[in-house]
Amino acid sequence: MKKIAILGSTGSIGTQTLEVAKEQGDIDVTALAAGSNIRLLEEQIRQFCPKLAAVWNEEKAEQLRENIRDLDVRVVSGMEGLLEVAAMPGTEILVTAIVGMIGILPTIEAIKAGKNIALANKETLVTAGHIIRPLAKEYGVSVLPVDSEHSAIFQCLQGGQRSALHKILLTASGGPFRGMTREQLEHVRVEDALHHPNWSMGKKITIDSATMVNKGLEVIEAKWLFGVNVDRIQVVVQPQSIIHSMVEYEDGAVIAQLGTPDMKLPIQYALYYPQRRYLPGERLDFAAMTEITFQKPDMETFRGLKLAYEAGRMGGTLPTVLNAANERAVALFLDRKISFLQITEIIEACMERHKNIPDPTVKEILETEQEVYEFINRRYGC
Ligand code: NAD
Ligand code: MG
Repeated sequence: MKKIAILGSTGSIGTQTLEVAKEQGDIDVTALAAGSNIRLLEEQIRQFCPKLAAVWNEEKAEQLRENIRDLDVRVVSGMEGLLEVAAMPGTEILVTAIVGMIGILPTIEAIKAGKNIALANKETLVTAGHIIRPLAKEYGVSVLPVDSEHSAIFQCLQGGQRSALHKILLTASGGPFRGMTREQLEHVRVEDALHHPNWSMGKKITIDSATMVNKGLEVIEAKWLFGVNVDRIQVVVQPQSIIHSMVEYEDGAVIAQLGTPDMKLPIQYALYYPQRRYLPGERLDFAAMTEITFQKPDMETFRGLKLAYEAGRMGGTLPTVLNAANERAVALFLDRKISFLQITEIIEACMERHKNIPDPTVKEILETEQEVYEFINRRYGC
């Protein structure tokens, strides 16, 4: 039995991870953590029988304790709860399926407790990759990508000579607004942005896909996962989402990973690596497929991608500023307090005024996050 714990079990990645566990039948779920959906968390606890569960909000945690008093499950709360789930004795792999920089401390805790990380929570690597990467090396644990593009790159690198890697070709669908002008983008609504053409995901990442900030975060994520500087990572728009990413070797050979848009493949690959298992579901049908097309990303219209390259190149606290400003701006957009184009305007304003701190500590990263939040609160009143 493989023993896993999940941070963010009630979300899009979390629920799909549990589906993989159910389908495979040889995964033991040791601990689960969620934000506030205690109804779904209770269902998951009754089905997968973890020994520990964490709920962010203490009141909800108390309610859950009450609801499951017939079970032998300890319910914890807050950051302490997340840290306990992360370091739960007996767990081999921690799946980080939580959204945002709140994942940094639990990920560090898990690495120190010797857990391998199946990483979906890209925000942690984007902001603290310079801490996570050496720490994982020091503790001899693996950080296995769950993000579909990074899983694709990881799969393309199997068997290849790592030192002969020339560049990474990170594919992007272009999101729902691909091909639009800034004038057209001025009037898009929350509903339009939440309608991703190919993938069904959580709200935050769906908006990030529409702004292409998601691709920018993925460029920085790839930098840390594969030890490549951002200028050797090229974003290629591939609207049908059939090619999940590619690598080019020194001799010009390009290796790609293709598949249907199903997150269960990268999740399952991370959980069983290096083994491949049967995965039920649709397969690519090359007889029915009409085309795979490519485009250059439009970094002038989708400025978030350009800003992310800049942040990735500069490093320090700048990726934290990009990420924190984006998190808050996306929340404001979802609350209909700002327009779609203002998301990247806010990111840019925050990056411009920031005095970069090179090689920041976790404390400095979290302080920077707070400063960005306070600035946005003051300026945009939320
Ligand atoms: P989601 O919003 O669907 O789920 C987030 C989960 O985190 C939920 O279970 C929520 O309860 C939990 N959570 C949020 N705040 C919490 C807190 N304070 N304490 C405890 N739990 C908390 O998000 P998602 O789409 O599953 O994305 C999760 C991560 O995976 C993100 O970093 C995202 O960028 C990344 N990712 C997602 C996909 C996808 O297909 N959904 C693909 C690639 C990468
Ligand atoms: Mg992705």
